[in-house]
Amino acid sequence: MERTPLLAGNWKMFTTVAEATELARAIAVEPVPPGRQVMVAPSAPALNAVGAVLRATPIALSAQNICWEERGAFTGEISPLLLKEAGATMAIVGHSERRHLFAESNALINKRLRGALRFEIIPLLCIGETMAEREDNATEEVLEKQLRQGLAGVTLKSGHQIIIAYEPVWAIGTGRTASAAQAQKAHAFCRSLLGDIFDKGIAQQIRILYGGSVNPATIAEIMAQADIDGALVGGAALKADSFLSIIHYKTL
Ligand code: PEP
Repeated sequence: MERTPLLAGNWKMFTTVAEATELARAIAVEPVPPGRQVMVAPSAPALNAVGAVLRATPIALSAQNICWEERGAFTGEISPLLLKEAGATMAIVGHSERRHLFAESNALINKRLRGALRFEIIPLLCIGETMAEREDNATEEVLEKQLRQGLAGVTLKSGHQIIIAYEPVWAIGTGRTASAAQAQKAHAFCRSLLGDIFDKGIAQQIRILYGGSVNPATIAEIMAQADIDGALVGGAALKADSFLSIIHYKTL
């Protein structure tokens, strides 16, 4: 089953609007390699400006979060309508920073994910265990809970409607990448669980990205794993040259 590799940059809260626009321009200068997809996720106030830069390019625009309602008394939230206006086609939900710094629960993340689907925005659901959970041999238990609760009540016509990102919390922004074998094991587990939650055909279509200190030196080995369909990149996506090296990784 062919799954188009997705190289995604999460710019978190690291750029001004001017810097985000500049970064988008620098990335858009290079053509996207055939058979690959690229996405960037600027912070919300930069979505319109970056969306304008990317409009004539194949690079997808993503939000870093999304509300499930289009209008109303939801102070601080981001309406799917505004995301669509900016040209966003994807939205990250359940990033570990949202879970751990802002106490977002699986139930809340599920609402966001279902809201995105209702507006035909592809949710990119992030899941991952902490180091303490890994050391307790609880990795699969944590991933199962995050997947089952995050995807509760969701029915899909196709696996292209959602994306999963496996991001071990201990590997995010720490310079510690999971080994390719560790990542592949977690991805294979997630895919088999997705087969159980949906069906095997849909599970084969769903892209599962790896995230956690991915950089130009580690991307090729990560992408060589059977169940890894792309990367969600934080730090190394903030400089055009390193993100472009990741986008242009060599197939092993
Ligand atoms: C992330 O933000 O999802 C991420 C994986 O960050 P980093 O690449 O910096 O670890």
